[in-house]
Amino acid sequence: MRVGNLYENKEKTRLSFEFFPPRDEKAEAGFYKVVDDLTKLSPDYMSVTFGAGGSTKEGSYQAVKKMITEKNLPTVAYIAGFGLGPDEITTVLDKYKELGVETIFVIRGDEPRTDDFTPHPDSFSYASDMLSFIRERYDFDLGCAGYPEGHIQAESLDKDIEYLKLKVANGAKYVVAQYCYDNTLFFKYVEKCRAAGIAVPIIPGIMPVYSIKLTNMLCKLCGAMIPEEMAAKLDSLAEADKSEVAAFGVDFAIKQCSELLKHGVDGLHFYTMDRSKSVTEIVNRLREDNLL
Ligand SMILES: Cc1cc2nc3c(=O)[nH]c(=O)nc-3n(C[C@H](O)[C@H](O)[C@H](O)COP(=O)(O)OP(=O)(O)OC[C@H]3O[C@@H](n4cnc5c(N)ncnc54)[C@H](O)[C@@H]3O)c2cc1C
Repeated sequence: MRVGNLYENKEKTRLSFEFFPPRDEKAEAGFYKVVDDLTKLSPDYMSVTFGAGGSTKEGSYQAVKKMITEKNLPTVAYIAGFGLGPDEITTVLDKYKELGVETIFVIRGDEPRTDDFTPHPDSFSYASDMLSFIRERYDFDLGCAGYPEGHIQAESLDKDIEYLKLKVANGAKYVVAQYCYDNTLFFKYVEKCRAAGIAVPIIPGIMPVYSIKLTNMLCKLCGAMIPEEMAAKLDSLAEADKSEVAAFGVDFAIKQCSELLKHGVDGLHFYTMDRSKSVTEIVNRLREDNLL
């Protein structure tokens, strides 16, 4: 399944779900239960992340393999190049090609937080370099990441957009955006990208609030802003039941997605965090409202 083609066909808004591969054998049963639950929503595709430094190389491969060969699911494989040499990248990609994967999402990744990791001396510095390398050697559809609030290490949002333009010039046919809880920032970002000459689909990433701790941790890690209204609500829910927090997350995401859909986005990409309950509720309610 070629995701570039999928977004080119504007007949409907595309739905995609992102997963981390299961950590170990013990986690597999729970992981595939979530995949099966979310399959019931008939997404256009699923995607499987890749730990930088190759940390989930085998786990990601096994998950993609099972999703394609046993479950017959349209699946995108990610590759995060940080620390990997060109040969290691081609070894991973050859295996994906053999499985029949047609779309690869290309990211740089970050330095693993372990002491014993030594990056390959020829590892790529940026995703744009990986995209050129892959495009020259393979016939995959390629995607890349974008950052509505600017990447956390970026000199400025404008510079970051300049580098996004390079990623598109080097072969990315679509962009999946880092989640951001304020749609205005996403809309402004798309406008800026268009003004910079980036014409490919830019798909908003949706990260429902699953728990207060996780939301705070992830936002700190990736630099996503928590809007004041959301921060106040999360403060007031600090002592609340987990289910109340998740219910707030569902309601917030429904409002956010409704606005994005009314604005005519090409797709919604959900960061599932390997959970199915919130995303199922969100998608079902958007469908009940004939928005999706
Ligand atoms: C949708 C999505 C999925 C993700 N999936 C994964 C995953 O599976 N595994 C994982 O490890 N991480 C993943 N990440 C996180 C990602 O790896 C990190 O955000 C990483 O820090 C940047 O990756 P990138 O591909 O955007 O990097 P790049 O595009 O290379 O950008 C990295 C930084 O360098 C700057 N830059 C880019 N090009 C240049 C240049 N030529 N010269 C100077 N500066 C430059 C950019 O402005 C930016 O600040 C994902 C992120 C998103 C949004």
